[in-house]
Amino acid sequence: MLSRQEWQDTFKDIYQGEVQFDAPMKDHTNLSIGGPADALVSPDDPLSIRNMIIVLRKKGIPFLPFGGGTNTLVLDKGIEGVVISLKAFKRIEVLKEGNDYAELFVEAGVPLQRLVNFCRENGYSGVEGLTGIPGTTGGAILGNAGSFGYEIKDVLVSVAIMDSNGRLDRFKAKGLGFGYRKSDISGNDIVLSANLRLKRDEKEKVSFRTENFFMEKKQKQPISEKSLGCVFKNPEGEPAGKLIDMAGCKGMRIGGIEVSTVHANFFVNKGGGTASDYLNLMNKVSTAVNRKSGIILEPEIRVIGRD
Ligand SMILES: Cc1cc2nc3c(=O)[nH]c(=O)nc-3n(C[C@H](O)[C@H](O)[C@H](O)COP(=O)(O)OP(=O)(O)OC[C@H]3O[C@@H](n4cnc5c(N)ncnc54)[C@H](O)[C@@H]3O)c2cc1C
Repeated sequence: MLSRQEWQDTFKDIYQGEVQFDAPMKDHTNLSIGGPADALVSPDDPLSIRNMIIVLRKKGIPFLPFGGGTNTLVLDKGIEGVVISLKAFKRIEVLKEGNDYAELFVEAGVPLQRLVNFCRENGYSGVEGLTGIPGTTGGAILGNAGSFGYEIKDVLVSVAIMDSNGRLDRFKAKGLGFGYRKSDISGNDIVLSANLRLKRDEKEKVSFRTENFFMEKKQKQPISEKSLGCVFKNPEGEPAGKLIDMAGCKGMRIGGIEVSTVHANFFVNKGGGTASDYLNLMNKVSTAVNRKSGIILEPEIRVIGRD
């Protein structure tokens, strides 16, 4: 990794944005867990990202994009290299509006809930079911976030992606391999923005649906606690939460991490939890589910950092 001085010398004319060295990732994840990243940067513009990653690649310094940290377990020993936050990319613009549709341009750092609220206020339908999902639009696109039968892929027209060589291209959403909580966008590719197509509807109706989904979420999930959302993907048949409950794991605890008593597929940090606690609990729970139901649970959360 570059020292502070080397960073300044290398990037002073070609990079604009924030840089924080030894950034404690626990301050940037919803679980409040994670050791320090060598550097956490927040570039102001695409050119700064491009210039930076070209240099990082040449020097063999790893880098990865990061959103709201609401689906990512950062390991206790932190992250080698540069974590790139898109938080400065926060524009929403209406590109076109017809009688029955609206096309939006949305940058990757826009909090997903800001997008949901924007659509609700303007009577744009298509993302009501994404209410209550924290994190950024970029993170939602990478993992095809979804809920209540809605998925972000269903409103995506195209996505602007900068690859790890600094090449910027716009891709049709249909070609990006979206599936259940996944896409073919690779780990170092950086989503910068997307064009979305929504249906126009009466504001009251969009608002009503959004509110109802939110109330249901609030009732069934521990949304005000520190978690990463669903730990495991739902296998065919029973939802993972039910399988975990049936295996007797609700309330099970290792260190500061507990299987939520509200929704068993959420692990919550009750205070002082570590990434190792979280991983050990995942292990214990998936073993119990396998013994009880013969099913192997697959993680939905992402794990990054030094082993
Ligand atoms: C209370 C709670 C409820 C949740 N409910 C749901 C739900 O109902 N449905 C659901 O799908 N998820 C849910 N989640 C999980 C999570 O909020 C979503 O997966 C969210 O879309 C992740 O976005 P993020 O910005 O936080 O991503 P992060 O956790 O920051 O990153 C996730 C992945 O995306 C990559 N990434 C982030 N930004 C970019 C970018 N700009 N370009 C390229 N790659 C990028 C990261 O490298 C990482 O691999 C929930 C989480 C919580 C805490």
